[in-house]
Amino acid sequence: MSVLVETKPAARRPLGVLAALPEELGDLIAAMRENGGMRTVTHGRRDYHVGSVHGVPCVVTLARIGKVAAAATVSALIHAFDVEAIVFAGVAGGVGRAVRIGDIVVSDALLQHDLDASPLFPRYEVPLLGVSRFNADPSLAARLADACERFVAEEGAMLAARFGTQLPRVHRGLVISGDRFVASAAEVEALRDALPDALAVEMEGAAIAQVCYEYGVPCAVVRTISDTADAHAAASFETFLSEIAGTYSAGILSRFLRDYAVT
Ligand code: SAH
Repeated sequence: MSVLVETKPAARRPLGVLAALPEELGDLIAAMRENGGMRTVTHGRRDYHVGSVHGVPCVVTLARIGKVAAAATVSALIHAFDVEAIVFAGVAGGVGRAVRIGDIVVSDALLQHDLDASPLFPRYEVPLLGVSRFNADPSLAARLADACERFVAEEGAMLAARFGTQLPRVHRGLVISGDRFVASAAEVEALRDALPDALAVEMEGAAIAQVCYEYGVPCAVVRTISDTADAHAAASFETFLSEIAGTYSAGILSRFLRDYAVT
């Protein structure tokens, strides 16, 4: 005799969405709260907002600044919240010569520019892991880039007029991370010389990518360019963060999540 067992479809595991600073999440937490059913779990001095937004079950949190903070947060997202993938949104300094303030960089690969255990290990290589460039998940990065392209096509002219920037462009390539706010022409020039294909510099991405690599969790990183990592960087960063970053993050993440919800 056969027994028909009715099984409930397995609930979808949540997506981890994070940024370093609140402005970099745009209206995401508010949208999640409005959607209803959001609960906030405090763990390791961070607030993890668990719920659903734009049709996707998510855990949304702030990593704060730097590689250790980012690695610790991603580790918690993986172990305490069982996320299926991780997306980071934020701002960065432009390094590539064609990368301008207001442009968007979606990373294909990430590297820690301040990691140097030479001569024991090659420069930039994570000791005992044998990797210097961590790849973003190709499908996640492609969908994030697609959301950025749609955002720029639909809102780019308005953004440029409103913020006095040029028409934003979307770049894809290497993002470099280190525990330094890069804010001098000499330092950004040295990074360009050492890593000619670097497009943007920030302080979290490669740490996130390393943890995700070690645990086999897909990840992707999107960065809006807030400054050009030179002597004007601090002022440009502050203005961009307070006035512009949230508009970009909201526009990009809402498009990305609506697409993610149906696939
Ligand atoms: N003064 C700020 C600290 C900003 S650190 C404060 O107290 O809040 C800069 C943040 O933006 C980091 O999270 C980093 O990832 C990103 N970032 C933007 N421009 C950067 C640059 N030129 N160099 C390094 N990180 C940059």
